[in-house]
This record gives sequence, structure tokens and C-alpha cells, in this order.
Amino acid sequence: MNRDGLSRTRTYAAGALALLAFATACGDNGGGGSAAPAGSTATTAASGPASAAATTPGAAPAQGDAAAWAKWNLKPLAPAPAPPADKPIKLERTGTVPVFSDVKTSDKVVFITIDDGAEKDPKFVEMLTDLKVPISMFLTKDIVKNDYGYFKPLQALGNHIQNHTVTHPVMSKLSADKQKSEICEDQAALTQQYGTAPLLFRPPFGDGANTPMLNTSVQQCGPRAIVLWRESMQIHDMQYQAADKKLKPGDIVLAHFRGPKELKGATMTQMFADLLARIQEQGFSVARLEDYIQAPAS
Ligand SMILES: [Zn+2]
Repeated sequence: MNRDGLSRTRTYAAGALALLAFATACGDNGGGGSAAPAGSTATTAASGPASAAATTPGAAPAQGDAAAWAKWNLKPLAPAPAPPADKPIKLERTGTVPVFSDVKTSDKVVFITIDDGAEKDPKFVEMLTDLKVPISMFLTKDIVKNDYGYFKPLQALGNHIQNHTVTHPVMSKLSADKQKSEICEDQAALTQQYGTAPLLFRPPFGDGANTPMLNTSVQQCGPRAIVLWRESMQIHDMQYQAADKKLKPGDIVLAHFRGPKELKGATMTQMFADLLARIQEQGFSVARLEDYIQAPAS
């Protein structure tokens, strides 16, 4: 099946209207979820039951104790199952990078990704230190460079830092050279600051994700996958791409480092508490995205 061809067709068909909608999906004021990019499920084959049992699974991420959850007025989230030994997504060292917005799994888990890095609320570090809910951070150099240190305690909790460009542009409006500098310079800065090279890339607004030009630019800078999302957290509720407005196993959820100015007075920790409540009330737990992805063999 020519998945890339299908994806491109969808992208081109969506055209300028979708671009307009993208501009709000990961920008100032939220929104845009219903028109978020139509990312496809990763194509790599899910593991069969036999292979899944063949090797020892890793440990599930530790989660905070009941007292820690009570401190934040939350009920403990069900612990995530141990990560699969046979990863549903296997990345290759070279060639076209896959584009995905969810992960094939029957585990009742979703993955939280938090973008940009504008709000640097110490209370959020305290919250994640208490709760130990796994997140992945897609950071934009020009938005985080005034305080790279803020994200280091979050990284020390086991959370990965991923690439989200230097200036947060609409990538499809850039030349190939400009795309490359946006991705490569963020990659270099994040690698230098955090000691490990981002494996994943997310284009701002999801824009251009399925274009061959962006895929090539990503390949030239080091990330080995383009990651989109299925749900977008706003202030108290999520926007769903699915018509039934329900989480599905393996969904990737987009949130942002945002504070009261962007959240109509709500704080980052209030937004995150509401996000966890929305996940919990649908019977899901939170797993670490990178635990479901096999990095290329080194
Ligand atoms: Zn963004």
C-alpha cells in the first residue's frame, strides 16, 4: 500500500483552508483540533502475540503514590502496563521517516506530548516530580533559549526532549534550505543543552508533515520520525479529531507549556490536572511514547 501517496493526497486536498486552521493548532490560543493534520498510524507492523512474549518487557514508568496525587486534588491514574518488548514503531537509520499521530497498541494508554516551551512554571516541575506522569517535550529553540535549565529537571525524570524548530514557522512556506536550518539548528541546540539528540520531530501546527520536502529536511537533520497527534488539550477539555470524541489506545495527545495569559487565567498545573482527569475518566493511563518506539540500531 502506498501510504505516503495517500497521505499526500489528503494533505494537498486539504489545501489552504487546513493551513489556516493549522495556524491555531499549536500557536497562541489553542483550537484547530478538528482540522489538525491527518497523520497516519505508523506503518511498521505491530508485534504478534508470540514475539511480544518472547523477551523480557521493560519496567513500566514509576508513578507517584496516593498522597502525591491527593496533594494535587487528583485520584491516582491507573499505572501504565510495562512497555512492549517488541516496539510497535521501529525506526530506521536512513531513508524516509514515518509520519504518525498514534501508535498501534491494544494497551489502554495514551501518550502526552507538550510543545513549544513558553510557560516555565516551577509548580509544573513540582507536579511532575510528585506524579511521575511521563511526557515528551517538543521544544522550540527561540522559545526555550532564555531558560534551557527549566526543562532539565523534567528531563531528569526520564522525559525525552524532541525537536520543534528554531522559530516555530509554517514549514510549507519555507524553502528547503530554510526548513533544514530550522530543524538542524534546533537539533544542535537541544543536543548540546540536553546531552542527547532528539529522535522525533514535530512541525509547528502539524504543517507540511506529509510533504516530501519536509521529510527530506528532517532526514538531513537527524530526527527519524515526524510525530503528529490525535487530540489537542485546550484549557479544560480536549479537542478530538475522531468524530466520537473518545480516546483510543495509542493516541498521541498534544498539549503546550502555557500559562494564565494563554489559558484564560488557568495555570499550567490546572490545565495538566484537567488533562489527566479527562484521560482517567475514559479509563486510560499514560505511557511514555519513547517506550513504544525502537530507535535505529546504532
Ligand atoms: Zn508548537
